Amino acid sequence: MLHPKMQNHRLEKHFNLLRLYFDNLPVPVSVLDDSGNYLYCNISFYETFLKQEYNPFFLLGKRNSDLFSTQVANNLDSNNYLAMKLGGTQCFEEYIEFESNEFDYWLSLKKPVFTTDGEAKLLISAFLNITERKKNENKLGLGIFDENNQPFLNYVYGNEALSYLDQGSRLIPKNITKLLKKSSLLNLLKNIDFNSENSINIMAELLEITLLNFPGNVYVRDDQSNVKFININLASVIGIDSAQNAFGKSMYDLLPIDVADTLVAEDKKILSSKDVHFMLEPVILHGNEQFYMSYKRSMKNPFESGHLFIGISVDYTLQKQLELNIEKAINSQSLNQKTMESFVTNISHDIRTPITGMLGLISEIKSQVDHYPDLYNKLNTLDTLTNEFLSFFNGILQSVENNDGVHVSENNEPINLEALVKSCIALFKPSLMYQDVYLTTLIPNNIPKYLIGNERMIKQIIINLIGNAVKFSESGEIKVILTYQTKLEKLQIVVSDHGIGINQCDHDRIFERFTRLDLSPNSRYSGSGLGLYIVKKYVDLLKGNVKVKSRLGKGSAFTVTLSMPKAGDSIGTEINGNELNQPIVLLNNLRVLVVEDNKLACLALKNSIVSLGLSVDVATTGKDALNLIRNTNYDYIFLDLGLPDQSGLDVLLKLRNNSNCKDIPIFVLSGHVTKQMYETCCSIGATGVYMKPMLQNQVKEVLNLNNVFKG
Ligand code: ADP
Repeated sequence: MLHPKMQNHRLEKHFNLLRLYFDNLPVPVSVLDDSGNYLYCNISFYETFLKQEYNPFFLLGKRNSDLFSTQVANNLDSNNYLAMKLGGTQCFEEYIEFESNEFDYWLSLKKPVFTTDGEAKLLISAFLNITERKKNENKLGLGIFDENNQPFLNYVYGNEALSYLDQGSRLIPKNITKLLKKSSLLNLLKNIDFNSENSINIMAELLEITLLNFPGNVYVRDDQSNVKFININLASVIGIDSAQNAFGKSMYDLLPIDVADTLVAEDKKILSSKDVHFMLEPVILHGNEQFYMSYKRSMKNPFESGHLFIGISVDYTLQKQLELNIEKAINSQSLNQKTMESFVTNISHDIRTPITGMLGLISEIKSQVDHYPDLYNKLNTLDTLTNEFLSFFNGILQSVENNDGVHVSENNEPINLEALVKSCIALFKPSLMYQDVYLTTLIPNNIPKYLIGNERMIKQIIINLIGNAVKFSESGEIKVILTYQTKLEKLQIVVSDHGIGINQCDHDRIFERFTRLDLSPNSRYSGSGLGLYIVKKYVDLLKGNVKVKSRLGKGSAFTVTLSMPKAGDSIGTEINGNELNQPIVLLNNLRVLVVEDNKLACLALKNSIVSLGLSVDVATTGKDALNLIRNTNYDYIFLDLGLPDQSGLDVLLKLRNNSNCKDIPIFVLSGHVTKQMYETCCSIGATGVYMKPMLQNQVKEVLNLNNVFKG
């Protein structure tokens, strides 16, 4: 530290004391000129932000961009600019990196100092650490980072609790104002001559106005309870006209005895410690409880015997209120978590027991009906669906119970991927029957029959992705496309849809636990918000990656990439189920007309036909049907008898009389099939008459496609 020795001992002592007070202020402090150049900073600033030893000349003339990353420097510069423009004390939340991409958060109080000509020439900034609070805000989802990935910070101007900070200020004295007409402050300081009384006087005056104008409360007192220094704000808080009037007075002359007693007792506690002490002090002022954020240190007085206490305190009442609210919210969140955990534990038994019973019953019935293939197959699907439900439910329970979710042992085995995908798709067939959505799959030939991987995890990944695509699509196509990079042994699974899509800013969030974008109670979409969390968790466990591309209103595509080495062809687990034996063959060249006015019945029938690989046109009236057959050659027609515009029998007659439909099968559908109706229909050309609704197996049967699927 510089302590000039001068003829003028009074000036020398005055300057050295001010330096001592300023340098040892217990929080980082900077003083910049009106062009953003650093003039002087205290020791704490060097140690905290620059991680280097104090060197009074190192910062002289440096700018924020010389010290910090562009992002941080820009933020500081723009706040400094604002503070200079607005005058008075301003309060900001700022962030400064302590390692690349690691930030601490600071409540910074900034106050400009003016010349006698009314120009702001100095900017004092004091930084108080609020990293803890900002991190708690982040926990609550208030976010340290906003949607543009910029730290989410507040500008706290107009905060009532800070209004006391502007209890007047001391102007830069006339002699310096005069000098500043010819030269900048930076130049004055650069050319300072430590042998010149005049130079030292200028520096002492600058330090004095810095300390007097300091935002917040600043004090220096000795261990005899005498006040050595207070700034203008503190003078006004304790109700005295001029700060200088307090210098040398006893704290007992200035403060109520009990307050002075408390402060003296507190000073004693830190007497032999070198650390900066932080306290959040509740203070009753003017009948109101206020909180002061207070930093204090003690040090040996280098010029006299005894100790000094140097402190800063800031009214933190409103900020404290904010912190309390945040704490409350966090506590109630963990309370919610606890309530949910016990709720889940309670219901887990109640749900698992009947489902296990159902599974037992299904397998018992299955064993008794194996000579009825149709019934047996349906029970098989019910069995698979119930098992899937149970495993999904177990997933939820596990996730809540373990708090961080899914734990699955790594269990790699050869998997027949095609069979696995088809078994996943089979689960959605029943629900797709009633949706205007088609599910297509592409599994190229170059994918080895068996790949090594964790079957259970991969199955869950695919089921969750298809499940979402089905849930969030009203219409259009859902594609499940697999590709395999043979050399890299990487499998890519893409599940795309034309559904509601996801906003860009939510793309990361959807993988978080319990995240559902539509949380309104009337939401059309149910869900636990766990599906994508499980997908991500499994993909991570399998050391792969998952990406989403999606646009609101346009649709989504989720791409999962996994390392899956090839296994020998002869090994592997086969997955059973009647659906699996169907190759995914598209018979797009066969065309079917469905004449049906009931939307749901029509969708179900259409989906049954489309899933068999044929293409379908729909007519909802007899008139439309007759128009369509004029221009298109159909291979099959399904005709509902109850049409809105004319009788189905009439339509059947007209169809048969049209040369385009003369020889093609026409299947008549009705809710009430009687013997007489059957005979009438057949007599005028129906190929068959069937009860509605027609199930997929029946559709397959009447279309006589079994040979195609078997082949
Ligand atoms: P859940 O589907 O149970 O709500 P997920 O974790 O699977 O939970 O998905 C989280 C959220 O992501 C969903 O609630 C939804 O808002 C959104 N989402 C997921 N997949 C899709 C998709 N294919 N299309 C549109 N939104 C989707």
